Amino acid sequence: KSTPESVVIEKLKSQYDSIDITKLSKFTDLPLSQKTIKGLRESKYFKLTDIQRESIPLALQGKDILGAAQTGSGKTLAFLIPILECLYCQQWTRIDGLGALVITPTRELAYQIFETLRKIGRYHDFSAGLIIGGKDLKFERKRMDQCNVVICTPGRLLQHMDENPLFDCVTMKILVLDEADRCLDMGFKQTMNAIIANLPPKRQTLLFSATQTKSVQDLARLSLKDPSYVSVNEMT
Ligand code: ADP
Ligand code: MG
Repeated sequence: KSTPESVVIEKLKSQYDSIDITKLSKFTDLPLSQKTIKGLRESKYFKLTDIQRESIPLALQGKDILGAAQTGSGKTLAFLIPILECLYCQQWTRIDGLGALVITPTRELAYQIFETLRKIGRYHDFSAGLIIGGKDLKFERKRMDQCNVVICTPGRLLQHMDENPLFDCVTMKILVLDEADRCLDMGFKQTMNAIIANLPPKRQTLLFSATQTKSVQDLARLSLKDPSYVSVNEMT
């Protein structure tokens, strides 16, 4: 007879506070669900990058994070793995609604994140949706209502929030802003502030960008609670 899932989950969670990042090298060194471990392995992800090593343990502990690391350093998994684990540990199911929201500045980035989530999350039962426009709003809205993880661009998300009075994000546990500095650079600041005003204040927020700019900190002030600053610098 197999161990009940709730026992497995409690065991994983009990290890979050004692992760020794100096001994952290492979994803299997982390207390992750078998579903995530398998998804990572089959996607050929074995060793953590620096930003993943620094931020995943804090994110698993439920901390808000402001992470900075250069392009190509692996920031996507640094937030997708905590999303999968958070929903898994809450035994989230398809009918539980929106659990995590990932906002990124461009359609291309949204699509890449979505594809990575589909790969590493393939053994989980959550539904994921890409909300980037290009499809008609009604179609997207219907799909959005059934999604546990939504990957979106700021403008399209705000459009859904404005035009759909039933848009429901009260269940949301994790908000991720990917390329947070670019969101601001590109003139999304007001859009982002309007979005944040619509989100439940009781949530975990993970911000990632290439640089820790002043404006990212401005945005952080709006949304982060006692954030952990994680900065990984390129050694030259
Ligand atoms: P960033 O968002 O920081 O620019 P990405 O998350 O897009 O970086 O990752 C850059 C590339 O590195 C991608 O091709 C991704 O598949 C790869 N990658 C990320 N993490 C790992 C890892 N732990 N092991 C191997 N490759 C990785
Ligand atoms: Mg990225």
